[in-house]
Amino acid sequence: MPGSLQHIYAVLQQHFGILHDETAPSAWWPIFGDEPLFEMLLGAVLVQQTRWETVEGAIVRLRDANLLAPNALARASADTLASLLRPVAFYTQKAAGIIAISTHICASYDGSMATLLAQPATLLRRELLSLPRIGPETADVIMLYAGNHPVFVVDDYTRRLFGRIAPELSSQPTYAQCFDWQRARYNVVREQIEQELASTIDGSSPTPTSKMRSQESLYADYHALINEQCVRYCLARPRCDGPPARRVYSRQTGRESYLERHDGCPLRPICTFYQIKNEQRV
Ligand code: SF4
Repeated sequence: MPGSLQHIYAVLQQHFGILHDETAPSAWWPIFGDEPLFEMLLGAVLVQQTRWETVEGAIVRLRDANLLAPNALARASADTLASLLRPVAFYTQKAAGIIAISTHICASYDGSMATLLAQPATLLRRELLSLPRIGPETADVIMLYAGNHPVFVVDDYTRRLFGRIAPELSSQPTYAQCFDWQRARYNVVREQIEQELASTIDGSSPTPTSKMRSQESLYADYHALINEQCVRYCLARPRCDGPPARRVYSRQTGRESYLERHDGCPLRPICTFYQIKNEQRV
């Protein structure tokens, strides 16, 4: 259905390609050390109110200081860790939180992120939410990308993009007309998206360009595509007709492969914000 969440996903995938491939899970999420699951948890905590390129710098400094593991961070001094995290936002509070999280993983799971993540989703989410510096969005990022649990991550980019496009919601068409993507509670938005995408996963609404093999893989790739779309086109001041923003936000290679495209945002034909803006110009 044009304008559905499935359609938006297919358009983004056609434009950017598959960003998160389940056969190479770290392809989209750059990994710098030897403990990718724990590194993803760290990245998810550090990125709160912080640009990703700043997070990468902090993670590289932690790696170089041999601190990129739960047992090392559990023994680290808060002052040393804070100085390595700076200029990440709230680096002092995040340093204390990361030490507490690392101590918990060591005490309860013998330092094994894999054991922590192997729990059923409900128990895992409850436990993650009980730890410092981890709210619903951060918990879901950890569950999806590190733990392969099928949960859709709702972040500011998701709310902004869907708020501007105002996608068709097949499950509740009248509710869809007034669904408030910006203000709806986190779990309401997440459940709405998961419900809409269920038909993509069960095969009743095939998307020709989608090559997904699992629910978690679809969610991970969709979130990555939303991220890319909002970094390149759907910025706070959107670049609907212009070339993608050239900002370099990761040391990861290959991210710039489509920057020479000058055909504008691929979602213009189905974007309510864009249609209204053009009507006002006439
Ligand atoms: S057309 Fe403009 S406002 Fe709409 S999704 Fe694209 S960049 Fe965002």
